[in-house]
Parts: sequence; C-alpha cells; structure tokens
Amino acid sequence: MQCAGCGNYFSGLSNFDRHRAWHADDAADATNRRRICREPSEVGLHLRDDGLWGGEPMTDEQKAAAGWGRER
Ligand SMILES: [Zn+2]
Repeated sequence: MQCAGCGNYFSGLSNFDRHRAWHADDAADATNRRRICREPSEVGLHLRDDGLWGGEPMTDEQKAAAGWGRER
C-alpha cells in the first residue's frame, strides 16, 4: 500500500501504521489530532529488495523454521 502523505510503499497495514504516527504535540487534544509520516527507518522498518517498506527481515534460522530456503 502507498502512503498518501509521502508516497512510500509499505508491505502491510501494520507496517504502514507504524509509519503514520499521531503527532505528539497534538496528542493531548483529541479533536485536533493528526497523523504524520515518520521516517520508516526510525520506526524499525526496512526497505526490501522489491521497494516496499517492511518489518525486520527474517534471519536464515527463521526462514528455516518456517520451511523456507531448505536445501533440496
Ligand atoms: Zn508517509
């Protein structure tokens, strides 16, 4: 999905939500809150090879545990 605010692409809604944070200065005033774009790398996202911002890349051990990348 693409962020309308900054044009970056995200691999899923949860990653997008991490990027679109509530502006801290407005948090106390619920009627005036707005969301801001945060730098994806500052909220723990990683730019994937396919150009999407996603979560922490899986380690080889995690891929193996999920049944990916096994030698055949
Ligand atoms: Zn954005």
